[in-house]
Amino acid sequence: MVSLAVFDFDRTIVDDDSDATIINKLREKQPPPEWETSNHDWTPYMSDVFEHAYSAGLSQDDILSAIASMRENPGVSELVRTLAASGWDVLLLTDANSVFVDHWLKSHGLQEAVTQVMTNRAFWQSGRLYIEPLMRQTACSRCPRNLCKSIALAQFIAQRPQYDRVVYAGDGRNDFCPATNLPPHAIVFPRRGYPLDELVKKTLASPTPLVQAKVVPWDDFYTIMKELFPEKSIS
Ligand SMILES: [Mg+2]
Ligand SMILES: [Zn+2]
Repeated sequence: MVSLAVFDFDRTIVDDDSDATIINKLREKQPPPEWETSNHDWTPYMSDVFEHAYSAGLSQDDILSAIASMRENPGVSELVRTLAASGWDVLLLTDANSVFVDHWLKSHGLQEAVTQVMTNRAFWQSGRLYIEPLMRQTACSRCPRNLCKSIALAQFIAQRPQYDRVVYAGDGRNDFCPATNLPPHAIVFPRRGYPLDELVKKTLASPTPLVQAKVVPWDDFYTIMKELFPEKSIS
């Protein structure tokens, strides 16, 4: 039997947000496009950002080095390497894009430790970055069309051998949907003080909690390490 660890990327694996990092980088050259409140999906907006970045002369190298310079949350490398060495499958499930996540993993030597990345597909064409939605779903009304992490996780699990345990770490609103679909013997790790943590607390305080999994909030990945590998933790 194999176990599965699922991680969000922005503000979970990395402390910062990759899209915000590029938007800030663009801001040094020209004002980024306005986010319209009528906009429902984030991916078309990022497409706009990449178009602006291209016309402002923000090169492929500028973008990739900004992504590579993003710092991991403390304990991430150790935990991900320990999981891989212990035979766990590691899935990154994120609304970022394949170019950012793959480049960051490669620059931080973690690509081999990750089983699969599920995210919006991005590609370079004549120096401009293009992005395509991971899915176009209408089945889940809680999530944006381009990504319901519950649907993505179910698709991933369907093609794999049965897992004896699943753990999930994230920070954002879009991590709540999958958190509600985890079985009671799973563990959800919400980043303390972030939207997922607030949503989980709120549902656990309600008469009919939507989350059945064990909940362990984290400030850094050593908390997750201690929970999953108590024998490997020092303190
Ligand atoms: Mg996140
Ligand atoms: Zn959903």
